[in-house]
Amino acid sequence: TDTIAGIPRPRLAAIATREAERYAASRPKAAEALAKGAGNYLGGVPMHWMADWPMPHLPLVAKAQGAKLTDIDGHRIDDFCLGDTGSMFGHSPAPVAKAIKAQAGRGLTYMLPTEAAMEAGRLLTQRFGAFRWQIATTATDANRFSLRVARAVTGRPKVLVFNGCYHGTLDDTMVELVNGTPANRAGLVGQVQDLTRAATVAEFNDLAGVEALLKQGDVAAILTEPVMTNSCMVLPAEGFHAGLRALATQYGALLIIDETHTISSGLGGYTAVHGLDPDMFVVGKCVAGGMPTAVWGMRQSVADRFAAYDETRESGHSGMGTTLSANPMQFACLTATLRDVMTPENYAHMEAGANRLATGLAAAITRHGAPWHVVRVGARVEFICAPGPLKNGTEAHAAHQPQVEAAVHTALLNRGCLIAPFHNMMLISPATTDRQIDRLIGAFDAILTDLFP
Ligand code: PMP
Repeated sequence: TDTIAGIPRPRLAAIATREAERYAASRPKAAEALAKGAGNYLGGVPMHWMADWPMPHLPLVAKAQGAKLTDIDGHRIDDFCLGDTGSMFGHSPAPVAKAIKAQAGRGLTYMLPTEAAMEAGRLLTQRFGAFRWQIATTATDANRFSLRVARAVTGRPKVLVFNGCYHGTLDDTMVELVNGTPANRAGLVGQVQDLTRAATVAEFNDLAGVEALLKQGDVAAILTEPVMTNSCMVLPAEGFHAGLRALATQYGALLIIDETHTISSGLGGYTAVHGLDPDMFVVGKCVAGGMPTAVWGMRQSVADRFAAYDETRESGHSGMGTTLSANPMQFACLTATLRDVMTPENYAHMEAGANRLATGLAAAITRHGAPWHVVRVGARVEFICAPGPLKNGTEAHAAHQPQVEAAVHTALLNRGCLIAPFHNMMLISPATTDRQIDRLIGAFDAILTDLFP
């Protein structure tokens, strides 16, 4: 067709070019620094996929505070990406910065706990519910270790995930449906295993599909986000989570809820706000205010089964836990975040700001007659360049418009607003102001004025 997401292709191309030129012209220092330093890195960047940001080249950050970034070319940027959730509570929240200073001279890693570790355990239970906790460094690892326990206690091989999911780089979940059949995800680097031997895939919001897979009797755990956030956002249908819980129980699989992104929902995450009842619970990224930390926990009933299992195995390499995890700096930051940052007041501010943003973006979409929609999960807002609501990962994949998104992201950054790359996600932190939100709405409206004249 000659339009894409409702925009005539030549118009989109012209605006993309205009915005790319404007971006490049305003960031000579970043371009020069990248040209000088990039040769030392694979693909010119410290993580290869940083090269996939849609701008002509990356900005280099000089500093960040609250909901603002300053780049080395002197641009002050309203940050709605917030490290794709790692900094959802703002950059360097004051209680966390203070905790880092206090711990900085007392050692950074010992493989032994601290008093703060004991306090963190208490706060985790208070905030997220009665789980037996473990500390990891990334949500990827927290999911990986949860799956190990689920397989150990059930004696079954498979994880059931939803098409289009993302739970980190653990291999087990890197599967997708191809014409209705599970297969390794396209694009995996160097993957030589057939991942479908230990994973299976259903569509989100399809309880009948889930039941058909559980009936085979080889599923150790269902691993899901409460809301699919990693493609275009997909909300659970009424009764979906209750249905998952009931089916998991009926067929003897564990239910693992990954709250790494949906912790935006409110105090205690989507699980607390919507009364979910998982067997295992995972959250990472922002849980220690941006200090690399993740936690995973299991109900006492699972802990009891694991204890029985643990007695039957040789002691030694379990395949769980990494050297730098559960270090004193993580506990200092985890304690500070749970106590002083994840507060009802902060969540109320985030919720109100996100509501303001979602309402403003939706109004702009309506005003311009764009065939787009907006979804919100607490402090997390996404505009999607297709009609909605979306039902599952297949629909979310089809709704994704990388060309449109690339032009819009660059245009937003030219207007001082950074949103998360690879989709259209925006986060509201406790430090984000109404003025910043209104600037983003204004910039979005101006871009739609160009795209839908
Ligand atoms: N779970 C979910 C739901 C995520 O979105 C992500 C990362 N985007 C992860 C796990 C993995 O987090 P990390 O990259 O910190 O390991």
